[in-house]
Amino acid sequence: MIVEMRTGASKKEVDDVVQKAKSLNLGVQLNVGTDKTVVALLGGNTGQIPTDIFAIFPGVESVTRIMKPYKLASRTFSPKDTIVDCGGVTIGGEKVVVMAGPCAVESEKQLMQAAEAVKKAGATILRGGAFKPRTSPFSFQGLQKEGLELLTKARDEFGMPIVTEVVNPQDVLLVSSYADMLQIGSRNMQNFSLLTDAGKSRRPVVLKRGFSCTITEWLTAADYLLAEGNNQVILCERGIRTFEDSVRFSLDISAIPVLKKNSHLPVIVDPSHAAGNYSLVPAIAKAAVAAGADGLLIEVHPNPKEALVDGLQSLSPSDFARLMDELRAVAKSVGRSI
Ligand code: PEP
Ligand code: MN
Repeated sequence: MIVEMRTGASKKEVDDVVQKAKSLNLGVQLNVGTDKTVVALLGGNTGQIPTDIFAIFPGVESVTRIMKPYKLASRTFSPKDTIVDCGGVTIGGEKVVVMAGPCAVESEKQLMQAAEAVKKAGATILRGGAFKPRTSPFSFQGLQKEGLELLTKARDEFGMPIVTEVVNPQDVLLVSSYADMLQIGSRNMQNFSLLTDAGKSRRPVVLKRGFSCTITEWLTAADYLLAEGNNQVILCERGIRTFEDSVRFSLDISAIPVLKKNSHLPVIVDPSHAAGNYSLVPAIAKAAVAAGADGLLIEVHPNPKEALVDGLQSLSPSDFARLMDELRAVAKSVGRSI
């Protein structure tokens, strides 16, 4: 249930609503806007509580039930777009933010070359996996702590914030002590203890869509992060599993406007894991920007043929630079910039 306070409602009027909710054993989350405060009442038996119990309080403008399973991720709770700050780079505003780098950190040389190339082409956040969630236990699992150290070295050298995946709840503290932003991968979208711990970390989080999950399940998973009081959450569409097998995953382009309508969280797109092939990445990336994505997460490797992970879908530095030029034109055509 959402209690929207009137413009200029006093702190006492808000506190009285909060106290009433607590007396009914409801969870409470406040969205304190510049002009209005919105109080979300969560859990318990909100479905059975008459809205009038809150509508009667002084300072209350309206009381609405949120019929969707997700609450804090919904636009009803937070009508204005959320802006996420990743080490000084903002996502969700006018600028389309490009995050790029290798699938996995493989060596100092590989990471530095990738960082230099993506920075030169205009990316503003460096991606790179140190902990890799691999389908097979026999595949390269990432350099782990050493990978995190290399990422911070690249950040310092190139002045780019870094985003990297955290796979296990027990690694959240370690990864968040190095990374500017945590990534939760597709396979972990519904790992609820990981979400809770990542929410507690106070780092911004990119939540990738589970490749067999609906948008509603995705936004409800985002509620786990938001419920910890961390509103710095970005949603990343990366393709879903369908009957189509000519691409690795089917990019759900319509997820972008659907999310924009129903949620206040920034939306980015990973064309690399959807395409599965470098030759298909540019078209999907441009379509994502045209459809309103706030950013892109793109795999770039200094030498894709030698990549230990996801070489086939990684762009070379020159392909990436060309794509960035094309993306600038697309962004401009939809009133944005890169
Ligand atoms: C990745 O970004 O390298 C990755 C593993 O992505 P996903 O979780 O979307 O498969
Ligand atoms: Mn990858």
